[in-house]
Amino acid sequence: MSDASPADHDELAAGEMTPEQLAEAKEYGRLELYAGLADKALDLVILALAALVFAVPLDDWLSGGVGSATARLLLIFLIVTGVHLVISFPLSFYAGHVLEHRFGLSRLTFGGWLARYAKRTGLALAFGVLMTAGLYWVIWLTGPWWWLAAAVVFFLVSIVLGQLMPVVILPLFYKIEKIDNPELSERMTRLSAGTGLSIEGVYRMGLSAETSKANAMLAGLGRTRRVLMGDTLLDGFSGDEIEVIFAHEIGHHVHRHIRKMIVTGVLFSVAGFWVCNRVMLAWADSQYGPTDPHQMPVSTLPLLMLSMTLFAMLLEPLQNMISRHYERQCDRYALEKTGLRAAYISAFQKLARLNKDDPAPHPLEVFLFHSHPPIGERLAMAEK
Ligand SMILES: [Zn+2]
Repeated sequence: MSDASPADHDELAAGEMTPEQLAEAKEYGRLELYAGLADKALDLVILALAALVFAVPLDDWLSGGVGSATARLLLIFLIVTGVHLVISFPLSFYAGHVLEHRFGLSRLTFGGWLARYAKRTGLALAFGVLMTAGLYWVIWLTGPWWWLAAAVVFFLVSIVLGQLMPVVILPLFYKIEKIDNPELSERMTRLSAGTGLSIEGVYRMGLSAETSKANAMLAGLGRTRRVLMGDTLLDGFSGDEIEVIFAHEIGHHVHRHIRKMIVTGVLFSVAGFWVCNRVMLAWADSQYGPTDPHQMPVSTLPLLMLSMTLFAMLLEPLQNMISRHYERQCDRYALEKTGLRAAYISAFQKLARLNKDDPAPHPLEVFLFHSHPPIGERLAMAEK
């Protein structure tokens, strides 16, 4: 086992960022923001062109050789997604590899990055094919009520994915092993007592093969529920600091945040599919005359993808607001449960430094895009 006591390693320095570190974190945050915005703009332009310019001619062309509607549907999905991937590859490479290396955060070679990119993309394509076929079968089967039926399917898929995430999906990308450290286990057993989270469910996640950034997370549902602590965190942080971060993750468990996020996701998906239904029918009517949803044309797929992307973007600030609220709840929980105020402060200072996290980004950026409160705010909370 590579699991070792945090005391065996050189702990990272605590304390506030130096002016140089702060400037570097701000520069990293700015470039990440630009890359993210460019990616969103590219998504919208490509999907809008596919939906409004190319969908009908593409479907007509495919109809010449492909009779099955499902086969045509999946070909449209693969062509649109394939073109999208090719056009956005330089940006993915810049944001995922170049930027991370420029700031000394990535530990992957180009080949290593490319292999992970290919694995992630392959997985997303396979999942996309299944979801696209499933969604149109639901549309053709249930007709005018498909948006409600699709939300039910979305709920079931969320449950299955939630269960598989820590046991099937994450292990495809990271080495995950039981934490084998008596001192840490003792602390974790004490903190998780009475919360319903078994100490069996605390794992070490090998982030260090990919990045120098530290992170921890709560994942899974029911029997697969577990806390995953990054090795970067376990090796570079003191026992007290790890305890505070672990307590934060327990906070997510105690406040049932994963369950609440699934419920919110289902409510959003009902609204989202309803909007998509209106948009697709209005467009299909304009192209082909009055359209029965039981016969929804497959050329509506790019428009469905565009509508879903746009809807998700519009809802992102609201989702982030809910997420930041959850994070503040867990920060308070961690402070109350451990009483380790000094360790809480030094842990967040280390995280900011290690992850090159701007402690005080522009409030508009936080409002629109950040799922976590700025570190400056999280530190101020502890100092009160
Ligand atoms: Zn959290």
